[in-house]
Amino acid sequence: MNEKTHFGFKEVDVNKKAGHVGEVFHSVAEEYDLMNDAMSFGMHRIWKKILIELSELSEGSVVLDIASGTADIPKLINKKFKSVSVHVTDINESMLALGRDRAINENFFHNCSFALASGESLPYQDHTFDLVTVGFGLRNFTDKLKGLKEMRRVLRPNGVLLILEFSRPTNSFFSKVYDWYSFNIIPRLGSLLANDSESYQYLAESIRMHPDQETLRGMVFESGFTECKFYNLVNGVVAIHKAK
Ligand code: SAM
Repeated sequence: MNEKTHFGFKEVDVNKKAGHVGEVFHSVAEEYDLMNDAMSFGMHRIWKKILIELSELSEGSVVLDIASGTADIPKLINKKFKSVSVHVTDINESMLALGRDRAINENFFHNCSFALASGESLPYQDHTFDLVTVGFGLRNFTDKLKGLKEMRRVLRPNGVLLILEFSRPTNSFFSKVYDWYSFNIIPRLGSLLANDSESYQYLAESIRMHPDQETLRGMVFESGFTECKFYNLVNGVVAIHKAK
């Protein structure tokens, strides 16, 4: 029998998950930024700024941003560090093309390179990067541990990994309100603004299936990192894991 994994709350064959995730992001690509602002009330911009603040970057560093999407993280890096080069990668052509077009239009293309690549099989040599970032991408991986091991492999000794991802609220009342919002409002917003409620139903489900803060921290250690701490944002709706 084929090995199974989850795609939101559904069980699918392991070898089919990437295809399903691909369909979601092809479908939402054009309205992705608008939906991000709408769903998070603009807060994702602050979360990404905090990620940069935690990065320990300095001029001349080399960065890999995995699952870059529309290149929010590369753009913020370029705003703060003019001579940091960022390798911008995503598994999805539509999302990567939007990131590249934005880099051209918003004048940060010169410090970036672009590659269609899975975070689970990175086309880079060992010990290449000072910083690896992945924002709201790990949740969609078929094999998260494999992805984390790849991130460790391509990092230089003392390099930093930053994972920005939805996580588990720490307050139970808040958690109930958040559940209601996720399953009632988010798919409706998706339908209204992106004409696609199904993809946003997947978003809400995939967040619930993603490991909580401590479990992810355990996986980070399992993949070979020796330090990992996490920061809870908005009561743990989102967490940043920082590993070395
Ligand atoms: N990092 C951006 C941000 O924070 O706004 C985009 C995040 S978007 C929610 C998730 C991105 O992960 C999509 O662009 C999707 O194509 C990409 N993705 C999904 N699975 C992936 C994988 N296995 N490897 C690399 N990218 C992946």
